[in-house]
Amino acid sequence: MTLMTDLKSMTPKEMAGLFQSMGQPSFRAMQVFRWLQQGIESFDEMSNIPKSLREQMKAECTLTVPEIERRQVSKIDGTVKYLWRLGDGNCIETVLMRYKYGNTICVSSQVGCNMGCVFCASTLGGKVRNLTASEILDQVIFTQKDSGERISHIVMMGIGEPLDNFDNVLRFLTLVNHPDGMNIGMRHISLSTCGLIKKIDKLAGLGLQLTLSVSLHAPDDEVRSRLMPVNRSVGIGQLMEACRRYFEVTGRRVSYEYALIDGVNDSDAQADRLAGFLQGQPGHVNLIPLNDVEESPLRPSRRVRQFQQRLESRGVTATVRRKLGGDIDASCGQLRRKQIREQQLPSS
Ligand code: SAH
Repeated sequence: MTLMTDLKSMTPKEMAGLFQSMGQPSFRAMQVFRWLQQGIESFDEMSNIPKSLREQMKAECTLTVPEIERRQVSKIDGTVKYLWRLGDGNCIETVLMRYKYGNTICVSSQVGCNMGCVFCASTLGGKVRNLTASEILDQVIFTQKDSGERISHIVMMGIGEPLDNFDNVLRFLTLVNHPDGMNIGMRHISLSTCGLIKKIDKLAGLGLQLTLSVSLHAPDDEVRSRLMPVNRSVGIGQLMEACRRYFEVTGRRVSYEYALIDGVNDSDAQADRLAGFLQGQPGHVNLIPLNDVEESPLRPSRRVRQFQQRLESRGVTATVRRKLGGDIDASCGQLRRKQIREQQLPSS
């Protein structure tokens, strides 16, 4: 072990190699892995591990334990929003949503974000740092522990651009999917991206069975580049090609997110153009009524149903995402922003 080894970010196999090199039996790795995925808060809780090894781990390893800075429960639908304080004082958000098919957690992948989408609260202030695999995993572990309810589905739609933290996100996916850990199936996991196409290809090459969600939000380069700076270097045409390749390689249909913004991307002509892109390509559209962000002048569309019907009449399946936790700042980055704002207020 080196000083501050982060065991929770390691697979049982990697840990077995490490323990063997320390003269420990390799079966310890699985024991430690299980304890870590159960959300222990101190190495002393590992009751089947010899004291000497526990002491060594205490001295040489980090054990990430996020603190609950705030917890808000929606009175409308029971959605829970957590604001966690990490070891270095940074805060991130996680949302627990209850659907008929199971509990879904929305996790963050970075502290802040560099993508600069104009409608998104997470990107104000830029990216502070990537989360480690264990910090992403902790959101699932400690939400399950706090709520006492099994989490069966994950969406990577919280703060951050997951494909901009590719290695840690991939490691997280391996860990959370492990049968001796949280054991959440890849088909129950969605990863949302603003469209980093090289990384989409890289992900496709791994052949995972997760669902790729692409944040489209506009059917033409002019509007999309205004809303999403990422589009200025690689336009929609190339993005759609990457999505097509993703489907061809993995056999998984891509889903597209489209936040409807009043007077910006919600006209019938734009629905027609969007349908044009998607016709003949398996995939479906998730329409999201824009969540108001205090710092932004953009407002939610009043044409959500019309836009959906227009798409459907052109053969594109589109669902309107049910708004959960409307009373608790439940959309990306809002709670963290609130926390930052309040910290900046003079205390007198
Ligand atoms: N960086 C990733 C994932 C994070 S955000 C991505 O861009 O996909 C998850 C989804 O919420 C994205 O589709 C994002 O565009 C959308 N989103 C961000 N701010 C929003 C807002 N104010 N209203 C509605 N959707 C929003």
